[in-house]
Amino acid sequence: MFYSTNLKAEPVSFKLALLKGQAPDRGLYMPMEIPKIPLEEICGFAGKPYYEIAFEVTKRFLSGEIGEQELFDIVKDAYDYDVPLEHVFERKYVMRLDQGPTASFKDFAARMMGRLMQYYLKQENRKLLILTATSGDTGSAVANAFYGLDNIEIVVLFPRNEVTPRQRKQMTTLGKNVRILALDAKFDDCQALVKQAFSDPDLESLSLSSANSINIGRLVPQTVYYFYAFAKLHDGNCNEEVIFSVPSGNFGDMMGGVLAMKMGLPVKKFVIATNKNDEFPNYLSSGIYDKIEPSKNCISSAMNVGHPSNLTRLVSLFGGMMDEKGIIHTAANMEEMQNQIWAVSISDDKTRQTIADAYKKYNLLLEPHGAVGWAGLMDYLKSIPEAEAENSLCISLETAHPAKFPEEIEKILHIDPVLPPSLEGIDHLKEHVTDLESSYEAFKEYLLTSKF
Ligand SMILES: *Cc1c(COP(=O)(O)O)cnc(C)c1O
Repeated sequence: MFYSTNLKAEPVSFKLALLKGQAPDRGLYMPMEIPKIPLEEICGFAGKPYYEIAFEVTKRFLSGEIGEQELFDIVKDAYDYDVPLEHVFERKYVMRLDQGPTASFKDFAARMMGRLMQYYLKQENRKLLILTATSGDTGSAVANAFYGLDNIEIVVLFPRNEVTPRQRKQMTTLGKNVRILALDAKFDDCQALVKQAFSDPDLESLSLSSANSINIGRLVPQTVYYFYAFAKLHDGNCNEEVIFSVPSGNFGDMMGGVLAMKMGLPVKKFVIATNKNDEFPNYLSSGIYDKIEPSKNCISSAMNVGHPSNLTRLVSLFGGMMDEKGIIHTAANMEEMQNQIWAVSISDDKTRQTIADAYKKYNLLLEPHGAVGWAGLMDYLKSIPEAEAENSLCISLETAHPAKFPEEIEKILHIDPVLPPSLEGIDHLKEHVTDLESSYEAFKEYLLTSKF
């Protein structure tokens, strides 16, 4: 069962948590009990393909909620692409989560979530209207994963000036059951509109749900690649702990990792690297949480988040309670959190420098988000004893394909990254996009007057 982090709503099954998105008390759903996987079993994943590991891990959350064969079919269909682990130096790796259809790590969550929703909606013969705010990559991953499904309509809100032309095209060129709204606003404003719609009784008849990382259906699939990376790269005896570096914005990716750790994955440290939206590094060191309003514009645009939704889940996992506004009602165990997480904020200048250095030194091609993660890892390694830094297995997550950010890469490295097949031809497709005034009244009217 899944409880709400605001502790006022009833616990629900996975299916209900998935279809609802946000709890009625505006909290986020979390598993009441975290399933454990024994270490021998995790090590045994070493020889398995990604989709089999996905099956083994996610079935722990879904037992009794979906047949094993159905789940197996879903993950096999969802994960039909590579997950490269690129060696950089010593035992330092970059995990490329950018080989999915929209070339972002968000494909991992969106593809499984879309298929699970479809499975349950068909069972019940009902429809859903999915609302999603995006800072760039969620919108395209979700739109792509849900495109063409019969029981699902989808509306994506994005901040007009904060996504790259290619990110924008990945959402706006789909059409069919995918509607895209451009707002003169920040990501946080878009997200606030979506959240308000969920708690508006006038919209109940629309059967709204969310595909943002507030949906637990996004987090469960995001635990898998942490197991996968460890299983493929550990030292053979499987008795070591790994360091992950996660470039973070709304903290869904990090929550996948932290859940994996609580399930039994041996993690020494999570390095959490943010851009100049540094509310989390500040919170981790002081216990005081101040959201950043408005959020700052950085070149790692998908991480321009001044009040990450998933923090409430982290606080909850460490024994505290933070409401949706970011007010802490019960303090988390900060000492334990600091033991497991190390956080740092990386400037745009340093991000650019990291892209340049990594390419020159290691022939490692990073885009701005992955560069924030890599820079964070390098900073962390400087903060620990040299021998430990040298010997530790470290995996930094690359969350998007460099070809999604050609303008920045070209400026820094003077090369035009080769497009993955999924992005070819997209620059010339026709766009379907609606401009919307950035106010709740306008958004509500749009929802009530559109024919879904
Ligand atoms: C969404 C996104 C992130 C941030 O992930 P969160 O789960 O929101 O922390 C990082 N990089 C890229 C490319 C993204 O699209």
